[in-house]
Amino acid sequence: MLKTEVAKAAERGSAESRWTLDSARELYDLPFNDLLYRSHGIHRANFDPNEVQLSKLLNIKTGGCPEDCGYCSQSAHASGLVASKLMKLDDVMSEARKAKESGATRYCMGAAWRSPKARDEAAIVAMVKGVKSLGLETCMTLGMLSSEQAETFADAGLDYYNHNVDTSERFYPEVITTRSFSDRLETLAHVREAGIKVCSGGILGMGETVDDRIDMLVTLANLPEPPESVPINLLIPMPGTRMANVDPVDPIEFIRIIALARLMMPASSVRLTAGRTAMSDEMQALCFFAGANSIFIGDTLLTAANPGNDRDSNLLARLGMTATSLEIPGEC
Ligand code: SAM
Ligand code: SF4
Repeated sequence: MLKTEVAKAAERGSAESRWTLDSARELYDLPFNDLLYRSHGIHRANFDPNEVQLSKLLNIKTGGCPEDCGYCSQSAHASGLVASKLMKLDDVMSEARKAKESGATRYCMGAAWRSPKARDEAAIVAMVKGVKSLGLETCMTLGMLSSEQAETFADAGLDYYNHNVDTSERFYPEVITTRSFSDRLETLAHVREAGIKVCSGGILGMGETVDDRIDMLVTLANLPEPPESVPINLLIPMPGTRMANVDPVDPIEFIRIIALARLMMPASSVRLTAGRTAMSDEMQALCFFAGANSIFIGDTLLTAANPGNDRDSNLLARLGMTATSLEIPGEC
């Protein structure tokens, strides 16, 4: 069973107080079996190693984003995606009910924005309140937030806000030029100050070095309070984007980063997010052993493919793993 939330929050804050690239790299370079032996032990001490938390991701506004994230098919700088308007509340609610029936305990809503405009806020608040009334945890990922916007969404009851740092501060300008790494950190601070749980991680496979990947984790682990949720994405090369033809990541290096994320943020949920369609069952099983304990379910993520419920439930059954149930009040 999960440790009490209080103990875990304390552990999040008190985990090795200041990580450095060198101290983290020393762990990363351990023999693979030693690294996973350590990370599995820490995982077992903080979570039920046979439980996986299931989330579902919905694109509530597609494409036409003014930012130039090199991996993203929703950027207006990429080609081929038709932009859509913001989804209607009823449609979001109908999708959220389906997600709950599939076992999801958290519903993540993403919009292809640099940041939400004032005119969008009432609709977002209504979505948060509506999805929460179904007994699901709510997550939004809408781009950068002012402190006032974070407060507005916190008042609506938003549980999590996703805002990935994506890579190291050094490599960041190679990925995105329309905003800075410190812009990302500023939004994370606004989210944390508003009392919303933080979901922040990044992507492997954009042409970064191993040190960049490790430095990304050092940034996250050294935040005043590490994120409660750390998504680790494997780049999905999207046609029409700058990163459509980058060499794939070595699966062993990917699993090492999962293990390192677990060791550096022992009480955080380490999430195996984009890219699972390119992972073998064995690779995913090793990621779970290394300390990953959350996935997105369903056939699609925002614009990319996901393994789908049948393949996921088949894999979890073969591994003897169950979905974390989350009993919070709401519509049955
Ligand atoms: N517009 C919001 C923002 O930029 O924060 C939401 C972006 S998207 C919903 C959330 C994350 O998905 C991105 O920050 C990125 O880490 C990940 N992502 C997007 N496209 C991806 C791809 N092609 N491969 C892997 N991860 C991707
Ligand atoms: Fe826009 Fe977000 Fe895609 Fe970047 S990741 S281009 S901010 S939708």
